[in-house]
Amino acid sequence: MATYDYIITGLGCAGLSLVYYLLDSPLRDKKILLIDNSSKTENDRTWCYWAENPLEIHPKNTPLVSWDSIKITEAKKSVSAHLRNLKYFHIKSSDFYKEVIEKIKRFPNVSFLRDSVEKIENTEESSVRVVTSKSGIFSSEILFNSIPFSLAPKENNILKQVFVGWKVACQKDSFSPDAVSLMHFVSEQKTKTDFFYVLPYNKKEALIEYTLYTKGDIDIPMLERELANYLNNQLGVSEYDISFKESGSIPMTTLETPANTHPNIIHLGTLAGCSKPSTGYTFYDIQKHCKSIVNEIVLTGKVSSKKWNRKARFGFYDNIILNIAVKWPAAMPQIFGQMFALNKANLVLKFLNEETNIWEEISILSKLKFSIFIKSLLNYEKH
Ligand SMILES: Cc1cc2nc3c(=O)[nH]c(=O)nc-3n(C[C@H](O)[C@H](O)[C@H](O)COP(=O)(O)OP(=O)(O)OC[C@H]3O[C@@H](n4cnc5c(N)ncnc54)[C@H](O)[C@@H]3O)c2cc1C
Repeated sequence: MATYDYIITGLGCAGLSLVYYLLDSPLRDKKILLIDNSSKTENDRTWCYWAENPLEIHPKNTPLVSWDSIKITEAKKSVSAHLRNLKYFHIKSSDFYKEVIEKIKRFPNVSFLRDSVEKIENTEESSVRVVTSKSGIFSSEILFNSIPFSLAPKENNILKQVFVGWKVACQKDSFSPDAVSLMHFVSEQKTKTDFFYVLPYNKKEALIEYTLYTKGDIDIPMLERELANYLNNQLGVSEYDISFKESGSIPMTTLETPANTHPNIIHLGTLAGCSKPSTGYTFYDIQKHCKSIVNEIVLTGKVSSKKWNRKARFGFYDNIILNIAVKWPAAMPQIFGQMFALNKANLVLKFLNEETNIWEEISILSKLKFSIFIKSLLNYEKH
């Protein structure tokens, strides 16, 4: 059985990010095996995040796409905000995969196996075994996994944001390229939280997404019907070509991710709890998590936590919002609208990236209409 220092199972955003930081560290000579069942050449998703400058892992061989402003719209009211020192950055996943894989190819000590992982086995010794469909069994000292085999049974019943997105090209000018429309609440939100998201590349092209918070399964035809209606009824666009489609289901929960008992199996990405419960944004936390893993191994030779640890107070704020989304969805547009209307947008985004201090958090939250938060506290329940 071939043995490695590290095996990384799942080479999506998190697996590739971890290799990227490993290869930039003193651990670059370790014998590493990477396993994924896809070629990672397809453009399968679009990632956005906000920061002052593009992150070091941001693809460098393609033109930088970013925006300076965002807007939140509820009924006829729209709040627009300039991001000041921040930008809202855009990554095409295929550009990201290509550049990280090109970097990996320069390291002969790193092998890429295209196969399906069937099982990850704990062994009695201090190593981990990976069973693949066609290539046999491999073992390593530490295994980093982002493949979501081991979702807890109640995972099916947690709140998720399900969404579909289309990149559309129109004949006539239909979009305003200056600002990303982060949330456009169209329905009254009486029984559900749902909104549309528009990334305008120019006046004629945009990525449009419809997002719904639900405990149910993703229903793509229904989500696509909503998207088509939005284009027609809200944006007045009836003729368009669709050049790219994406869809997803991101967990929105502050409940514990499944326990992982083996000391040498480290979870990454969504599986490690990197999706921010109240927003679903994951890319930025994946970067923080993967960097912190590499730094810790360099300093101590091991990884002390087997998942991403969110600071407790941010988990608490997230859950207050999730509780409102589940019980009083009609309040959601006002919460996000007010948050951006009454505070500087860069401070709100810093808060959503969990990089504010307690005084900044008090300053943001104290400006909001309090009654719904008190109601959420009095009826506190974890979601
Ligand atoms: C369409 C979409 C858009 C998103 N947009 C944003 C965004 O704008 N901003 C943001 O912050 N977050 C966004 N997210 C959330 C999050 O950033 C992504 O889901 C991210 O890709 C999660 O990374 P991951 O490594 O955990 O999972 P993935 O990137 O999904 O990687 C998992 C990998 O495991 C492989 N795999 C699965 N099963 C097996 C198996 N049995 N054997 C071998 N390999 C296997 C897959 O091929 C895949 O490469 C988006 C998610 C989706 C789906």
